[in-house]
Amino acid sequence: MKATDVFTVGCYIGGKWTFPDETRIIEVKNPADGSLIARVPRGDQEEVDLAVQAAKKAFYSEEWRVLQPYKRGKILFEMAEMIRQHKKELARLETLNVGKPLNQAEVDVEVAARYFEFYAGVADKIMGETIPIESGIIDYTVREPIGIVGHIIPWNYPLQIAARSIAVSIATGNAAVLKPAEDTPLTTLKLVELMESLELPKGIVNVVTGYGHEAGAALSAHKEINHITFTGSVETGKRVMEAAAQNIVPVTLELGGKSPNIVFADCNEEKALEWVLRSIVQNAGQTCSAGSRLVIEKSIKETFVPKLAAAMEKLTIGPGIDNHDLGPVLSKKQFERIQSFIDTAKADGIHIVTGGKRAFVENCEYGYYIQPTILDNVPPNHLVAQEEIFGPVLTVTTFESEDEAIVLANSTPYGLVAGVWTENVGRAHRVANQLQCGQVFINHYGAGGGVPMPFGGYKQSGFGREKGLEAIRNYTQVKNIAVKY
Ligand code: NAD
Repeated sequence: MKATDVFTVGCYIGGKWTFPDETRIIEVKNPADGSLIARVPRGDQEEVDLAVQAAKKAFYSEEWRVLQPYKRGKILFEMAEMIRQHKKELARLETLNVGKPLNQAEVDVEVAARYFEFYAGVADKIMGETIPIESGIIDYTVREPIGIVGHIIPWNYPLQIAARSIAVSIATGNAAVLKPAEDTPLTTLKLVELMESLELPKGIVNVVTGYGHEAGAALSAHKEINHITFTGSVETGKRVMEAAAQNIVPVTLELGGKSPNIVFADCNEEKALEWVLRSIVQNAGQTCSAGSRLVIEKSIKETFVPKLAAAMEKLTIGPGIDNHDLGPVLSKKQFERIQSFIDTAKADGIHIVTGGKRAFVENCEYGYYIQPTILDNVPPNHLVAQEEIFGPVLTVTTFESEDEAIVLANSTPYGLVAGVWTENVGRAHRVANQLQCGQVFINHYGAGGGVPMPFGGYKQSGFGREKGLEAIRNYTQVKNIAVKY
């Protein structure tokens, strides 16, 4: 697969590349300038069914059943190395397809490799327990694979999320069917292409490209899927959950956020400025865990916000491949969605400190770039302080006491991540304990968190945890065995 020419790449089902007819094609574009980069199949119910059958055959095969866990781990270690060997190609492909700066895509490649490494080490450590019952009975549990697992992948971090999906599925002994987002399937397909040389039974990993309402809906409603993992919007998450409910299939939902950076007057200002900025401009703000709300102590706002705005205005905007600070947003549709939030704020009299407009980039008429934006004095219940904008748009709200900071931080329907900036250790812990979210960062901010850290939401940010050892629970089921002797 070359990243420079327009190429066609198929679905990957049962170890074979399949190309449905010419009339069922999706054109994949480069967000930097709108140019065509690839064509992939518009898979639907038919391809999803073929993929599920292939996964089922592989999952129940003798070959998979007897493969020792450490050997699954060995395959995953090999994959981690393979990813590193193809670092340049994968990063370039991710940048071409998603639009993000190349240096961010390179980080994504390393994180993808780390997922394989982490779960490689886990594969032979998935253990049960012995439970004391009474003399004459041995009672023990085994943690078994759940079966055929479906993964619906979003477009903002396709490589990282495909990697964590594949790695944990294999480590836990399942067979997987992945449905990448229609706009960004290329690195998922590249990953399975790389996996072809490994000694993995065919059908253990399958990829069906296609639209959400067709292939995605077919996967979430499939009767022979045993678990669905979905990352994306709340609305689509509800649809996936409803479909899975018809088959009593468990779901893991990671549905984005409206994460606050809570900045107290006693913080290390330099560090807080650096990370508040990074956490909203990374991937042009298209990050589920973006720090999209600045909740700041009133006494320092007038010095902090102008410094932040000045730093934002220095950022460069342009094609990700040239390593600008901000690349384009994914598409015209996403741009219009972001702009409409800014326009609503403006119409309601909210002050725009900086940004607020489309950024025009030479020779990229069909690329959609947006200036990083700060909206000041945003009422906490305003739409822009409540909804996930998914662009480089930061809202600012002030507080005067610790209690007020906590109320503000918890005041949205979401609860994914929060940053707390204070040099007071007691306050840091008091606040962290009261935040309704899945990850808290004190005096730093790791958008998305690290590979070993459990990641997932409170409230409408979803439920279940990906990453780390915690994810093992999603992909296994517990069997209790009682032996009378
Ligand atoms: P989406 O939730 O519709 O899409 C995410 C994935 O779900 C894609 O693979 C898509 O093909 C699939 N999908 C769509 N409809 C489906 C259905 N009916 N059944 C099963 N799968 C389906 O998101 P979007 O429309 O691409 O983006 C809209 C907004 O969602 C964004 O602006 C952002 O706010 C949010 N979003 C959040 C994340 C995140 O990481 N939390 C990722 C993507 C989008």
